[in-house]
Amino acid sequence: MVAPTGTLPANFIQNIINEDAKTGKHGNRVHTRFPPEPNGYLHIGHAKSICLNFGIAAENGGLCNLRFDDTNPSKEEVEYVDSIQEDVRWLGFDWGDRMYYASDYFPQLFEYALQLIRMGKAYVCDLTAQQIREHRGTLTEPGKNSPFRDRSIEENLDLFNRMRAGEFPDGSKTLRAKIDMSSPNINMRDPVLYRILRATHHRTGDTWCIYPMYDYAHPVSDAIEKITHSICTLEFEDHRPLYDWCVETLGIYRPQQIEFARLNLTRAVMSKRKLRELVEQKQVSGWDDPRMPTISGLRRRGFTPEAIRDFCERIGVAKSNSTVDYELLEHCVREDLNMRAARAMAVLRPLKVVIENYPAGQVEELAAENNPENPEMGSRKLPFSRELYIEQDDFMENPPGKFFRLAPGREVRLKHAYIIKCEQVVKDEQTGEILELRCSYDPETKSGGAASGRKVKGTLHWVSALHAKPVEVRLYDHLLMEDEADGTDEIAGSRVNPESLTVLKQAMVEPALAEAVMGSRFQFLRHGYFCLDKDSKPDAPVFNRIVSLRDSWAKVQKA
Ligand code: ATP
Ligand code: MG
Repeated sequence: MVAPTGTLPANFIQNIINEDAKTGKHGNRVHTRFPPEPNGYLHIGHAKSICLNFGIAAENGGLCNLRFDDTNPSKEEVEYVDSIQEDVRWLGFDWGDRMYYASDYFPQLFEYALQLIRMGKAYVCDLTAQQIREHRGTLTEPGKNSPFRDRSIEENLDLFNRMRAGEFPDGSKTLRAKIDMSSPNINMRDPVLYRILRATHHRTGDTWCIYPMYDYAHPVSDAIEKITHSICTLEFEDHRPLYDWCVETLGIYRPQQIEFARLNLTRAVMSKRKLRELVEQKQVSGWDDPRMPTISGLRRRGFTPEAIRDFCERIGVAKSNSTVDYELLEHCVREDLNMRAARAMAVLRPLKVVIENYPAGQVEELAAENNPENPEMGSRKLPFSRELYIEQDDFMENPPGKFFRLAPGREVRLKHAYIIKCEQVVKDEQTGEILELRCSYDPETKSGGAASGRKVKGTLHWVSALHAKPVEVRLYDHLLMEDEADGTDEIAGSRVNPESLTVLKQAMVEPALAEAVMGSRFQFLRHGYFCLDKDSKPDAPVFNRIVSLRDSWAKVQKA
């Protein structure tokens, strides 16, 4: 699949590219990259960055690389590398043969570091991490020079080579850029470029015991790949002078860093660290738990790539941070599925109905359209018989005034079938539990009874008891309690919404759904959109609710 072009609305990044085209900067090329760190699964925030980077490139006839920013071996794993590729592809984007790893550049990054030392622009420092922090100063006070700042070039070259050779313990020395300890920008106060760390890297194994810092590896990797527009999130704005310092000092290709506001969503955590915590504490079934805001979670839940791309397009690209309503994401899913999803009847909490005046053993095949919004999707036959299931909460013994569903002596319309009347309620004598309803039907009201001119207020969905298939249905709500999603640091178990998962093991669906395949999506009338979960077995389907039908976003927009 190829990313759709012509979809990105004008934004400030496109304006920059248009200006660059006028001046011929970057030789009129557009080359971006999506640079995930493989330390977790991607989330919906990354989707924004993916759509932006690949979208901007496609829009401008350019290219976008996939680059793993794998400079921190203690947290990175091959599992994450694989999941990231799967997720980017699933979203509909293609990096061609341009999949790179920052670790591929370790030899070159090392050579460039030697070059900085030879230029007198970097030095080996023996301060501990704690001492470096103490020397750094504050926003209002300048920092203090390291006592190791004026080592000779020869000594620095010797020490740095010995750092690489493994002569010094972890954390005992660093390589630092020699910039300016009194810079008003703390990032420019002799930032660390390399640290000593004995950790096995998922690609380079134990070849290296020194690893470059992100702020050094990133601009150099961008330069090596001749990235023209290096798009990143706002928190890197203060790092841009260091980004520029690295490529300017080395005299290598000069990409242009551009910052945009990261996506924040209500009721969703979007830090990989916090998401990993949920997985490790087994608060969720895994990274792809359908409640997770990860791309794999949203995919398993049944969200479509089209809906996610539409969402990313609608939220736009801005320079200032804001929080987007989770409901907008759900709205995009509904908009997409409304036209595509076949309608189906499913009774989630069944209550038996016996139609007393319907001949025992008789079965009728009633025509039902598959999607009233999309006639091309045709129609199917629904079996109707003497015993049916309706939803438990579609019946009330003593209904309040505005209850238009079934009650003793009242009539309702069964979708695509007949008008029925509740004649009798059968209860368990001991417990008082309602066991079944005895009803009558009006044979003159076939296909919903519109032609009969009869007026009834409620229309219910139903399935034929004889033909229905038992399935498990899983309903989801926000994973975290309200107000727990933003800002908080740790995710204790108590913050997980106890109602985030409801499992209904006795649901009944119309027989056509026995043929459902993974990846197809349905609208269960009155309940929302559903798809098969990967936990399904051939004779035991499990359906996820993707999203309910209640569109609170559309309501807010109309109000
Ligand atoms: P996290 O905080 O989730 O770990 P990160 O920024 O550390 O996120 P990276 O793997 O470094 O994760 O991110 C890869 C790219 O995705 C970066 O360019 C980053 O700016 C972008 N990105 C990450 N989170 C968001 C977000 N919420 N909105 C937009 N872009 C994001
Ligand atoms: Mg990061």
